[in-house]
Amino acid sequence: MRKNIVAGNWKMNTTLQDAQALISEIVHMVQDEVTGSAVEVVVCPPFPFLSAVGKQLPEGGRFHLGAQNCHQKESGAFTGEVSAKMLQSVGAEYVILGHSERRQYFGEDDELLSQKLKAALAAGLKPIFCVGETLETREADETFNYISKQLKDGLFHLSNEEFDQVVIAYEPIWAIGTGKTATSAQAQEVHAFIREQIARAYDAEAALNTSILYGGSANAQNARELFSQPDVDGGLIGGAALKSRDFTEIIKSF
Ligand code: PEP
Repeated sequence: MRKNIVAGNWKMNTTLQDAQALISEIVHMVQDEVTGSAVEVVVCPPFPFLSAVGKQLPEGGRFHLGAQNCHQKESGAFTGEVSAKMLQSVGAEYVILGHSERRQYFGEDDELLSQKLKAALAAGLKPIFCVGETLETREADETFNYISKQLKDGLFHLSNEEFDQVVIAYEPIWAIGTGKTATSAQAQEVHAFIREQIARAYDAEAALNTSILYGGSANAQNARELFSQPDVDGGLIGGAALKSRDFTEIIKSF
């Protein structure tokens, strides 16, 4: 079901102590200041801190735990890897898949991401599936083709029931960590396009029910304008998710 979601991707940042202090501040601020809206908050700390951070989240409320990646196999001789089932067993409900940093630095392609999606869904996790174009692609006027291919090859192999569990994040690569946010019109245009592609691949109901988040230098100053767009259902936040005041302000932007 379509929901407003703000997800914080902490990436490879924080120590256990930092993570515990950060989540404690976020929980207190959000509980004190966010009363009216039904926005869901997903926090995605590094693997070693999932359990500890999860224990600090109030039960049954708006807070949910997410991971930043998972392996495509359920278990086995894959030294150093973490399975979706392991994540689920420590309380994760979401997992980010297809983040551009995973695609770029770890060579994750659509075929591998398809397997990871299946593994996440089989373990009962909700994938936050990221798509987004490079600056070069945008300047060549190829954004729609590029996003459409990422969706088709990476995501649209899922059944209707599986797809129901998926959240999509549109993250233009040129906007991630650069301070260059997409304008609300640029975000809306691509979000509307993604919704149209979902309607074609599945049906109008699936398109209406899918939460599509914007990611890329979203912050306390621009979130309200971005979230006011009809097809923007929230944000996947990197840098600003590490600052409790900024993250809370973003959550308050609905
Ligand atoms: C991200 O990495 O998902 C992201 C959106 O980062 P930032 O907000 O720092 O641009």
